[in-house]
Amino acid sequence: YRSKARGRGVYTIFSPEMSESHKRKIMIANSIDTAIEENQFCLYYQPKVDGNGIQVGFEALIRWHHPEMGNIMPGEFILVAEQSGKITAITQWVIRRACEELHQITDRFSSRVRVAINLSVHDLRHSDLFDWIYSAFQEYNVNPRNIEFEVTESAYLDNFDSSEKLFKRLHNLGCKIALDDFGTGYSSLSYLTQITIDTLKIDRQFVTQIETSERCRLVTVSIIDLAKRLSLKICAEGVETESQWDYLRAQGCDTVQGYLFSKPVPLHELKDNHQDIPHDFTNYRIDI
Ligand code: C2E
Ligand code: MG
Ligand code: MG
Ligand code: MG
Repeated sequence: YRSKARGRGVYTIFSPEMSESHKRKIMIANSIDTAIEENQFCLYYQPKVDGNGIQVGFEALIRWHHPEMGNIMPGEFILVAEQSGKITAITQWVIRRACEELHQITDRFSSRVRVAINLSVHDLRHSDLFDWIYSAFQEYNVNPRNIEFEVTESAYLDNFDSSEKLFKRLHNLGCKIALDDFGTGYSSLSYLTQITIDTLKIDRQFVTQIETSERCRLVTVSIIDLAKRLSLKICAEGVETESQWDYLRAQGCDTVQGYLFSKPVPLHELKDNHQDIPHDFTNYRIDI
């Protein structure tokens, strides 16, 4: 069976012996353009809290409600989008939507809040990425100080020259840069002295084992110590228990994120802060 996908150039061949998961991938890839046109994507936000539990930032995480396939999670479709060349359209959509919604967040919380946008490895190969971001800032009148970008270490390093150029420019505007899922990628740490970043995000796999594994605690403490020595901020992902949070705070972790505080939720479901964001919170300035 051959079918030419409606619209833009995804050519697919369905055969009876094709696995269900392969068919699903093709369906997902072929649905992305329509999803953008028909407004099936939305952004959820997950708070990042400081040591006092005050929400100082929000990570934008994309969600897709497909009319027939139901909810498809980014863990599945971002990879498909990368493999099928559709990630660019998604990233442009995410950047614009996050910029559009930013004002609701700053109005409600504080002008010091930061919204984090995830970038994929493929985005970093686009020489136009800076221009997309910059024009979204202009269109929606965004202060770049309210924006942070999250990128994994492998995405950064696989495109070292273009990443470095991009993040230097964004940094000069006032954006922050965070290294996502830190500790799961490269074995060499020498690059940490060369790249433009502000924050390390400790991967959830370390946080999950804090209570059960002495080794994990040691690795976590070492990552925090490394970040401090490099004058980087540190954020821990996937905090689900009070004791994980207590431990991370005691070790000097700046911010944490996880189900203990909130799952990613639609904008209007975010809880209010019990206290204003401290003034010194975003005033740090890091040059490495
Ligand atoms: P990530 O950037 O590392 O995001 C963290 C993921 O962990 C999110 O999954 C979040 O919902 C989940 N999480 C947060 N706290 C907890 C917790 O306490 N426990 C557990 N079990 N999970 C927690 P999500 O939203 O499914 O996103 C998965 C990945 O998909 C993200 O990992 C990111 O790499 C990617 N992604 C999500 N949105 C976007 C986007 O807009 N653009 C791009 N390029 N990638 C995105
Ligand atoms: Mg992230
Ligand atoms: Mg992460
Ligand atoms: Mg992670």
